[in-house]
Amino acid sequence: MRKQILPIDQALRIPFRRRQALERLGLKTLGDLIRHLPRRYEDRRHLKTIRALEVGERTTVWGRILAVRQRQSRTGKTLIEACLGDDTGEIQLVWFQQAYLLEVLKPGATGYFYGEVKLRRRLQMLAPEFELEEAEDEESEPAGRSETAAPSGSGSPPKETSVNLRRIVPIYPATQGLSQRILRRWMAAALSSGVLDELEEGPHALLAGRGATLKDAYQDVHFPEDGRALKEARERLAFEEYFWFASQLHLRRRRFRAAGGRRLRAPADLDQKIRSVLPFQLTGDQNRVIEEIVQDLQGEVPMYRLLEGDVGTGKTAIALYALLVAVRNGCQGALMAPTEVLAEQHHRHFLELLRQHPALKIDLLTGSIPPPEKSRILENLAAGKTHIAVGTHALIQEGVRFKALGVAVIDEQHRFGVRERARLRQKGEAVHLLVMSATPIPRSLCLTVYGDLDLSILRERPPGRAPVRTFLVPPAKKSRALEFISRELDRGRQAYFIYPIIEESEALEVPAATEAHQRLEQQFHPHRIGLLHGRLSADEKENCLRQFRDHRFQILVSTLVVEVGIDVPNATVLFIEDASRFGLAQLHQLRGRVGRGDAPGTCFVGLGKVSEETRRRLEVLAQTEDGFRIAEEDLRLRGPGDFLGVRQSGWPHFRIGNPLADLERFQSVQKLAERFWEEPDFAGEARRYLERHPELADPGVGDEEEDRALAALD
Ligand code: ADP
Ligand code: MG
Repeated sequence: MRKQILPIDQALRIPFRRRQALERLGLKTLGDLIRHLPRRYEDRRHLKTIRALEVGERTTVWGRILAVRQRQSRTGKTLIEACLGDDTGEIQLVWFQQAYLLEVLKPGATGYFYGEVKLRRRLQMLAPEFELEEAEDEESEPAGRSETAAPSGSGSPPKETSVNLRRIVPIYPATQGLSQRILRRWMAAALSSGVLDELEEGPHALLAGRGATLKDAYQDVHFPEDGRALKEARERLAFEEYFWFASQLHLRRRRFRAAGGRRLRAPADLDQKIRSVLPFQLTGDQNRVIEEIVQDLQGEVPMYRLLEGDVGTGKTAIALYALLVAVRNGCQGALMAPTEVLAEQHHRHFLELLRQHPALKIDLLTGSIPPPEKSRILENLAAGKTHIAVGTHALIQEGVRFKALGVAVIDEQHRFGVRERARLRQKGEAVHLLVMSATPIPRSLCLTVYGDLDLSILRERPPGRAPVRTFLVPPAKKSRALEFISRELDRGRQAYFIYPIIEESEALEVPAATEAHQRLEQQFHPHRIGLLHGRLSADEKENCLRQFRDHRFQILVSTLVVEVGIDVPNATVLFIEDASRFGLAQLHQLRGRVGRGDAPGTCFVGLGKVSEETRRRLEVLAQTEDGFRIAEEDLRLRGPGDFLGVRQSGWPHFRIGNPLADLERFQSVQKLAERFWEEPDFAGEARRYLERHPELADPGVGDEEEDRALAALD
C-alpha cells in the first residue's frame, strides 16, 4: 500500500481519542499529515545564560532544577514552581494544574526550557516547554509516555535531532486538543516513514531547473535547518500550487477557445441602428468596450471576456449591443441574470428600447413562468423564433435548447459559478461569452482568479448623474438621519433599510427584522413598509421586491443584501444598520441602489458602537465613489475568499502561496505553465500531469451536486 494513503493511526500507532482529534483537523492519511503545514516558526536555536535573559523575550535556557514544590493558588489552582539555575543565576518556572510535573522535574535534573521571560517579583517563565537531559523518556506531556509513536518505538528523539528545542521549531495551526509537541513528534515520524519517497517531482525540475526537490521541501518546511532552507522549501511548495492553479486557468481558456469561433459581423448600418434605439449617447468608455467586443465577435476564437464596470456605468447597453450583433448574424442571444426581478427588469427594458422593431422577438424565461407559456417559449427557442432570451438559471436547465445560440451574456457574474458559465456556453456551439461584473475586481485578482478571461473595464459614468452622498451615522446622529428620510418619504420618495444577516443564528434574524419593522412602522406612520428576510421563499422574496418597485409600499426593510442590480429609480435613500458587519465592496454595491433616477441619492452608514479603526475603514466610503479603490481596500482587509464570496469559488485553497501578494512570481510560473501545456516537447509529461490531476480535465461540468442544486432552483 502506498504510504501516502496509509491511515495515520496505522502508520504511527495512535490511540483512538487522538485519532479523532486528527480527524477533526481533516487529517486521515500520512499524506494528509505531511501536508499539514506550520502556521509559523519559532527560532529556538540560540541558548542564553540566565543572567543574559531579557524580560519579554522568548528564548531557550539550559539549567539544573534546584528545587520543586507544589502549592495552591489563591483561586484554588494547583501550581508547580521550580527553581532553575545555571552558573550565572536563577529563574523560577511556573506551571498551572500540572501536578504530575512534580514527578518529572526532580531536583538535580538538567535540561532545556523554552518560554517567555517575565518579571514578577523575580525572573519567571510561565509554563515553558522543556526537554530534560536525563530521563528523556519522561517528557512533559501528561499521557506522553504511552503514546510515543515513533515507528522505531525508541521513545522521544535523541537530542541532536530534537524536534522541539534548540532548532527552528514549527508551530502548527489550531490543534484542538493535540499539543504542538505531539504533532511535531508524529510529523517527524511521518517524514521518516518513507512517504516522501513517493512524492512525484512533477514538471518543476523540467521547467524551473534549480531549487529544492519536493522531498526536501516537505522535510524542510516542517523542520528547517536554517532560514535559507525554509525559504527554498516554501518557494518549492508555492511553485507546486501556482503551477496547478495556472494550469487550471490555462486549460480552461484553451478548452474554451478550442471550439473555434463563429465569426459575427457588425456592419456600420447595424451600428447605427443600435445607437438609434438607445435613448442616450454612449460614453467614450462604452464605445471603447463595444469595439473590443466587436473585435472578439469577428475573431476566429469565441469571445471569452469579463466586463467590469461599477454600478451605474451602463453595462446593459453594451450587453444589448452584443446580443443584437448575434441576431443580425442569424444567431440567437441570451442574457442570464441571477434573480427573477433582475431578469424581468432587463426584459422590460429591452422590450421598451426595441418597441420600434416588433419583428425582434425577446422572451423571458424564469422559474415562475407558467408551464403552458414556458413550453411555448422553449419551442420558440428551439425553433429559432426567439431572437433574444432573457432569464435566470432557468436558461441553463436540461430542457432548454437554442437553435443557434451565438452570444451569451451573464449579468452580475459573481452570483454564478464557473460551472454555470460553462453550462450556458454549452447551450450552443462556439458561443461568444461575455460575463459582467458590477464589483470592480482588483487587478491582482483579475490576473489570477479571472486570469482565463479577457478583460474590459468601464470606468466612466454616464453624464448627468448626481453622486450618491454618503454619511457615517454614529448613534447620536441617527434621529437626524431618520428625520431626513421622513422628509424624502413625504415627497413621495422611497427608502431602503438594510440589516445585516445575523449569521450565528438564523433564528434570530426574523425576530430582529420583525422588530425593526415594527419600530419603523411607528416611526414612519402612515408610510407602508415591506419586509424581506432570509426565511421567505424565493417567490415571496421576488414578490416583495416587485411590490416595492411598483411603489406599493414606501420603505423596504431587508436583512439580505438587496439584490444587486435592482433598479428602483424612485428610491433615493438607503440606511444601513450596523454597517461594519458588511464588507466595503458590499456596502458600495448597496449604495448603488440609490441615486438611480434624476434625484440625488443619499446613503446613511449606521455605525452602532464601533471602534475608531472600524470607523476609519468605513470612512473610505464617504471619501470616494471609486469602486476600484474601495475594492482594493476591501480585498486587503478581507482576503480573496471573503471578497469573492462563497458562490464565486474559483479561488483555490493555498497553503503556502499567495498569488495576490506574490503576483510577479505567480505570473512567472504562469508563463512556464503555458509553455508546459503548449510545447510538444512536454506532451508526454503533460499527459502524466493530467492523469495525476484529473480535476483539471474539465472542472466546468458534470458535478452531480451542482446539477441537483440547479434543478432545485427551477
Ligand atoms: P450597470 O452598469 O449598473 O448595469 P445600467 O446599464 O443599468 O448600469 O445603467 C445605469 C443607468 O444609466 C440606466 O438607467 C441607463 O439607462 C443609463 N445609461 C447607460 N448608459 C448611458 C449613457 N451613455 N448616457 C446616459 N445614461 C446612460
Ligand atoms: Mg446592471
